[in-house]
Order: sequence, then structure tokens, then C-alpha cells
Amino acid sequence: MSARAGIVVTGTEVLTGRVVDRNGPWLADRLLELGVELAHNVIVGDRPADVEAALGWLASHGVDLIVTSGGLGPTEDDLTAQVVGEFQGREMALDEEVEGKIAEILRPLAARFPNPDMDAVREANRKQAIVPVGATVLDPVGTAPGLVVPPAANSGPTVVVLPGPPRELQPMWKAAVATDAFRSAISGAHVYETRMLRLFGIPESEIAETLRRAREAEVDIDDLEITTCMRRGEIEVVTRYEPEQAAVYRAFEDLVRERHRDTLFSDDRTTVDEQVAGMLRERGWTIATAESCTGGLLAARITDPAGASDYFPGGVVVYDRAAKEELGVSPATLDAHGEVSVETAREMAERVRERRGAEIGVAITGIAGPGGGTPSKPVGFVCFSAVGPDGAITRSPILPGARFDVRDRSTTVAMHLVRRLLLGEHD
Ligand code: ATP
Ligand code: MG
Repeated sequence: MSARAGIVVTGTEVLTGRVVDRNGPWLADRLLELGVELAHNVIVGDRPADVEAALGWLASHGVDLIVTSGGLGPTEDDLTAQVVGEFQGREMALDEEVEGKIAEILRPLAARFPNPDMDAVREANRKQAIVPVGATVLDPVGTAPGLVVPPAANSGPTVVVLPGPPRELQPMWKAAVATDAFRSAISGAHVYETRMLRLFGIPESEIAETLRRAREAEVDIDDLEITTCMRRGEIEVVTRYEPEQAAVYRAFEDLVRERHRDTLFSDDRTTVDEQVAGMLRERGWTIATAESCTGGLLAARITDPAGASDYFPGGVVVYDRAAKEELGVSPATLDAHGEVSVETAREMAERVRERRGAEIGVAITGIAGPGGGTPSKPVGFVCFSAVGPDGAITRSPILPGARFDVRDRSTTVAMHLVRRLLLGEHD
């Protein structure tokens, strides 16, 4: 039997969609890594009764662990610690050590204001230091301490209480996992293996076909839990299995490798962005971008890994014809083939590569919509070119969806072109 968990994300701003939930998905990944099965992710507003209802509902469905996010701040509406304490049948009491730690954190913060109301600061400090008796307290990353709260009675889930801001929640999660209380809550966790395969350039139906063939080849894939999803134009195949089924998984993976040799690009959870960054760094190469319809989204993606300035000297956004000419695309090319053409893309990539003195130049020009399409170049028609020292790769697919999808998918296509170029392919 495997340990099961539920997540309770609190916050009216998250419930209403004004803030997109980043904690639920992040925690889901961490639980998966630990082999804990995630049963539910519940989002509730900042109302104590609703938080309590969510805890009760999850507990009644037999989860071993509940992780909450949010509502740990110093204000009146931050009530998660108290609700969880009561739910677990524990008294609340002031923890002086915690009070001292928070005071240390608050002193320099309060000093930034001209006339801090020190009574109010002390009051807020004290409120955050009132914790359920018997809970393990996790040191604050911001000002709020986190908690691991086992049930006072002998049954029921252990509740891990974490702050709402992702930059606080993430480091604190690691501290929570290291506690004895957490370990014993998931001691039933069956160790599951999880593997992720990423593919690019095939439709999801191809994976369905691979699964059919696996069955035909008598690979017992029913012993594996295989989930396939399409994300940013890539297919992710996540498989979770008990260690005893390792041979079945290997047979399945071999089949995927064989059938999808050209499109399988990651078997170790690395993203194409990480792979490209890694290969550029390994070689000491740089890359420059020239973008039309994506307006800088590719540059944003390339520079996402921290400190990308070592391999990204810069890029340009060249929307209209004049800007493309200024970059150095020849008027003759623009006249003959148009702004959205593989020829223009190719020249954009070559010019930006020269201008930035980079080993690789990559360019995108296309029709992202909403309007602007023609029968021969409809919305979604996008031209790509990646140029390196030994050659170039140029493509012009028609991407599905409307503006957001076309632009997002375009960055994925461009990243894969660059990856292939770095692996030594060219047209
Ligand atoms: P604080 O001391 O900052 O109030 P808190 O634990 O009380 O901490 P919340 O009040 O619930 O946290 O959230 C503070 C802010 O953190 C939110 O306004 C939001 O910007 C961000 N945040 C909270 N929960 C999430 C979430 N699930 N996903 C993304 N951002 C979130
Ligand atoms: Mg708050």
C-alpha cells in the first residue's frame, strides 16, 4: 500500500483565479518524487470554515498526509495555523523560541519604516508564534513559521502547513520533508519509480499506437501507470511503477525508443531549454535571436535559466518590414518572398548571428493572428531558421490554435531546431 496525500491551497485570490496557483502543481511534483500518491488538490478561499471542511473531506477519504499552502501571515484573515491546530485536536500556545526568531527577522524590516508602531509589530509577531502544541515548527523563510502537525489522536492525517508565497513555500518544503513527523506520516509510502519521456514532433495518437503495439508484443503495460499529456507542443509520457515491474517498464521504454527514435529527446526529465543551455555552455558557444511574431518570447525562454548572459549576448524584435531591413534582411528577399517566409527567416538568423558575433542565430517570423492570414499563409503559418557554423535548419510548419498557442508553440519549435543544430544536424 502506498501513502496518499491531499493538498489544500488557500487564498481567495487563488480560488478566484486572480493569482494562478503555483503551489499545487509544484507540491504535486514533489509528492510524486517521494512516491506519495496525490489523491486531491483542493482550492479554498480564506474562510476558516472552508479550510476546515477541506481538511475534513480529505481526512474522511483516508489520506495520510495533507499539505496546506497560505494563510500564515500576521493579519487577521491568516488563520490556517489555528484551524489546523483545532482540526488536529491540539491546543494553541505561544512558542517563545519561535517568537524570538520572528522578532529577529522583523527588526531590520521594521527599521525600514520611519515610525513603526512597535506594539503592532510585537502583536503580529506574537500571533505568528502561536502554534499547536506538539507540532514541529519549521523556521520561517519569510516571517511565518511552517508546521508539521500530527493528529493528537492516534489516527488521521498529519498536516504540513506552509506559507503561500512560492518563494517561501519551496525552501520550507525541504525542511518539512526532513522532519521525523513527516517521515513517519508517509512511512507507508511504497517506493514507486517514476520515469518521464519527452517527445517532440509527433501527435499524441502515435503514443496511443505505441501502447497498442506494446500490448501486441505482450509487454504487460497494465502493470505500469502510464499518463500521456501534451504540453507546449511536446508529449510527456510519465510512467509510475512498483520496483518489481522494472523489467516491464524497460521493455516498454525500449519500444518507445525504437518506434520514436527521432522524436524522443529526453529520458531524464531535462527540458529542451535545459538541454540547449547545457550544450551551449559545454561548448562555450553563444546564441542570438531575431523574432517577429513572438515579440521576444523566445529570448525570454532562452534566458530563463539563471545567469544565461554567458551564452546569450542579445536578440532583436523586428516586427515590421523597416525593422527587418534595418537588421540587414535584403529588400530583394522581402519583395520576392514576403516578410513571413523561410527566406526572410533565414536572413534574419544570419544577420543577427553576424551582428552579435554568436555561433548560432535563430529566427522566427510568422502569422500569429488574430488577423493577417491569407489562404497560402494562414494564421499559424510560422517560418523558422537556426543557423550555425556548419549549416542551417529551416522549417515552416502551420501551428494549431490561436495567437497565444501559436506564439508559445513557436518558441518550442525554435528551441528544438536549435537543439538539433547543436547535435550536428542541418538541412
Ligand atoms: P503572507 O505573510 O505573505 O501573508 P501567507 O502564508 O499568509 O503569507 P497568503 O496570504 O496566502 O500567504 O499569500 C500571500 C501571497 O502569496 C498571495 O497574495 C500570492 O501573491 C502568493 N500566493 C499565495 N498562494 C499562492 C499560490 N497557491 N500560488 C501562487 N502564489 C500564491
Ligand atoms: Mg496572508
